[in-house]
Amino acid sequence: MATSPTARWEHAVVTGGSGFVGSHLCAALLAGGAKVTCVDDFSTGTPANVAGFRDHPGFRLVEADVREPFTVDADPDLVLHFASPASPVDYLRLPVHTLETGSLGTRNALALAHACGARFVLASTSEVYGDPEEHPQNERYWGHVNPIGPRSVYDEAKRFGEALTTAAHSRGTDTLIVRLFNTYGPRMRGHDGRAVPTFIRQALAGEPLTVAGDGRQTRSLCYVDDTVRGVLAAAAHGMPGPVNIGNPSEISMLDLARWIVELTGSASTIRFIERPVDDPAVRCPDITLARDKLEWQPVVTAEEGLRRTIEWFRTQQTE
Ligand code: NAD
Repeated sequence: MATSPTARWEHAVVTGGSGFVGSHLCAALLAGGAKVTCVDDFSTGTPANVAGFRDHPGFRLVEADVREPFTVDADPDLVLHFASPASPVDYLRLPVHTLETGSLGTRNALALAHACGARFVLASTSEVYGDPEEHPQNERYWGHVNPIGPRSVYDEAKRFGEALTTAAHSRGTDTLIVRLFNTYGPRMRGHDGRAVPTFIRQALAGEPLTVAGDGRQTRSLCYVDDTVRGVLAAAAHGMPGPVNIGNPSEISMLDLARWIVELTGSASTIRFIERPVDDPAVRCPDITLARDKLEWQPVVTAEEGLRRTIEWFRTQQTE
């Protein structure tokens, strides 16, 4: 990987920059010397996520809904489109918003990149693989998605976003599709429904950890610093993607819950609850492409990442 994958950018626009991943992306870009304009409607993110660099001279926070055409007071050379509800709790609460952010929002962010001659990065997701029939999933797999299931508002919005990005690429816009797998770390919300923050919140509160089904379904969890490093390495490389960015080490949800109980020193028990509809049984990235082309791979161990996340949650008043 290049010594500083952020160094080549003068000015980056990050849609969804006040969210979990977006805020870490803004921080990394600023640390690399880029100016950053964060565009966010605060539908699932919060200005508190960017409070740490709010006064940085190179940072601007713009409140806007990317479903409407938007402009920025800058001439970016990089547009990272990360705006979208991402947790099941959020996208089930905001189904049409999610579909429109993935479609109209992607169109508008692409238009900005095209007008400025900027490189465009679409934050896609492993959810485009649906409940996969191939394991692990590489970028050539087309997926197994239920187009009318409850999760489809997210999965299909991202698949449409990929198609739109590909169409823009064929018309000359410099684009990249990154397919992020489950990412965790500080600034996740305790009630966002994703496994890591839910289990940590429950363990710290001494409540039972609610494991869906029999807990044997697996996820691969990537610490947010690794994800951000992978995204910026792919952006700097110039490839169009799609490229998987995730951690291939798999863990069952039951093992994750037990581990979090141990790491928090909690006395919590495990409670099994009903498994959500279309919940994938397995999810694991094949990251051969990122390893070969970007010389990128995750370096933060699950134990270290979970410890850092637990420490952050301890300092927070969880919602
Ligand atoms: P998040 O909900 O924390 O952040 C999303 C941000 O987008 C929020 O700040 C929200 O307010 C903003 N937003 C939503 N709709 C908007 C709109 N119409 N206009 C402007 N801003 C809007 O979610 P996250 O986990 O940080 O995910 C960020 C991106 O990464 C998403 O595109 C998501 O699909 C993708 N992704 C995340 C993961 C993960 O594990 N966290 C995995 C795969 C893909």
